[in-house]
Amino acid sequence: MKKSIIWVIIITIAIIVNACGVFYRSVAPKQYISSFSSEEITIIMEKDSTYPLRVLSIDNKRDSSILRAQALPIFINEDDPFVSNLILRMKSTLQDSLTKGVGLAAPQVGISKNIIIVKRFDKEGEPLESYINPRILKYSKKTQPCQEGCLSIPNRRGDTKKRSYSILVEYYSTKGDRIVEMIEDYTAVIFQHEIDHLNGKLFIDYI
Ligand SMILES: [Zn+2]
Repeated sequence: MKKSIIWVIIITIAIIVNACGVFYRSVAPKQYISSFSSEEITIIMEKDSTYPLRVLSIDNKRDSSILRAQALPIFINEDDPFVSNLILRMKSTLQDSLTKGVGLAAPQVGISKNIIIVKRFDKEGEPLESYINPRILKYSKKTQPCQEGCLSIPNRRGDTKKRSYSILVEYYSTKGDRIVEMIEDYTAVIFQHEIDHLNGKLFIDYI
């Protein structure tokens, strides 16, 4: 008799503890996982969205090691304040009167993550758009010659000759939507140039 009472007490306690655990899990906030290192967060957040970021140069040894590294994928969270400020500051960097670029990859501003900005010459108004975790799914056999330059390689231009005329690109929006798009002509060159940056490749490697 005594034994059965003890068992009832044990089982009751177990049920209460388990129920509390379920309740705690349901009310506890979702853990936020940042894609960025603390050093990257400092770079992104030290100024507001209107301020351009410093563009890394291949001539600087430390910058060069970041430019040549493989960038990492972004963990997409719509409310991520770091991703949104980084994108706005990358756009400010391209719009800076001194820069005048047509594309920018996050490693070029010291953030070794898979984000690029491309000026969409193929769209009305030629907007600057951001792409998260972009990758090229298909390259056309047809190629195009193209005079390229790079904000991270001062005073050099060159013909990369074998850029694909069209590419099938997969990327994610800041909301996490997966988009697959066919890009052609000069805009396809910009995408190829910027996605190369995420893999540590530079246009001078083709010359
Ligand atoms: Zn570049």
